[in-house]
Amino acid sequence: MVRMPSPVIYLDHQATSPCRAEVLHAMESWWREYGANPSSRLHRPGLQAAAALELARQKIGHGLGGSGGRLLFTSGATEANNLALKGLAEAELESGGARRHLITVCTEHRAVLDPLRHLARHGFELTELPVHADGLVDLGELEAALRADTLLISVMAANNEIGVIQPIATIANFCRRHAVALHCDAAQAVGHIPLNVSELGVQLLSISAHKLGGPMGVGGLWVADGVRIAPQLHGGNQEGGLRAGTPALPLIVGFQKALELALQEQPERLHQMAALRDALWRGIRDLGGIACNGATAPRLAHNLNIWVDGVDGVELHRQLRRYLAVSSGSACSNGEPSHVLQALGLSRQQAAAAVRFSLGPESTAGEVEHAVDVFCTTVQALRH
Ligand SMILES: *Cc1c(COP(=O)(O)O)cnc(C)c1O
Repeated sequence: MVRMPSPVIYLDHQATSPCRAEVLHAMESWWREYGANPSSRLHRPGLQAAAALELARQKIGHGLGGSGGRLLFTSGATEANNLALKGLAEAELESGGARRHLITVCTEHRAVLDPLRHLARHGFELTELPVHADGLVDLGELEAALRADTLLISVMAANNEIGVIQPIATIANFCRRHAVALHCDAAQAVGHIPLNVSELGVQLLSISAHKLGGPMGVGGLWVADGVRIAPQLHGGNQEGGLRAGTPALPLIVGFQKALELALQEQPERLHQMAALRDALWRGIRDLGGIACNGATAPRLAHNLNIWVDGVDGVELHRQLRRYLAVSSGSACSNGEPSHVLQALGLSRQQAAAAVRFSLGPESTAGEVEHAVDVFCTTVQALRH
């Protein structure tokens, strides 16, 4: 018998993970009491705001393992990706450089693919590498794609749909040997898996607060020393002239708190998430006709992406959404089957019948049990 949970169970933390209570608390005084602009250097409230901004920059940079570089605050990972990719390309043009070739992977987030495709319409050439059936980048293809005029390689740390973790350290070594810049969209990785930007040797790394329990609307770009990027927003000399506009100080303070918590809790959280995710997988797998999308390892502990044989995807999601907040393919999907699942070799029909579960710090064993019940009952009913 299905126990009907009254509220919908939220298992969509990779779309956004709700702001933690501690984060709300940390932000509150910056909304209520200290309203000054960090660029106002003539009065004490302004100087205090500037100090808080620089402290957050230092703490978040430290949390990333960043040394020998600078963290720029942006409105999120989308803006950070645009700044990194278009900024690097524009700086190359401005300096009179001749490198015009860009490489990425076909399973990247649209916030990477779209800026790169934009550049490809404006004088650059783009190679989109295929992935293996497990979602991992093909390193042989990467090597084969490299050209004398390759400026940049962009590979995400962890995939937002299928949770697979790309071999960034290996790719960074490759980039170093060939003197090519590496950009990494780490929106799904930072706070969730151990990551050290300077040890990895990544030149540009994008992050987002709301994927790790911070507020929506803030993120950052780590820029290693010696990497030149051209600003993509003009209108002021904030962020060292690389990102005009008043920094969103309360959100930045929240971002700092969220990352601090995520890093503190990470070792314990990894176990907790993996145990819940495995319980979810075991419960669902027993139905039969279920496959896991993407490599089982290395992958994020809080992600499970499956496809269900013998059901209509649209009908499946119509039924599930009464009880579960999950994702079909991609959070931003507009009816088009996910480009990530298609890259793994799934047909349009199979991709439509895919379900992404993503757990968060508040997810419980009871919720997972309910989710398994609802899911199994729904699939069985649809198959009959
Ligand atoms: C969510 C996400 C983004 C976009 O981040 P925003 O901060 O919402 O702009 C980019 N890349 C990946 C991999 C993401 O998961």
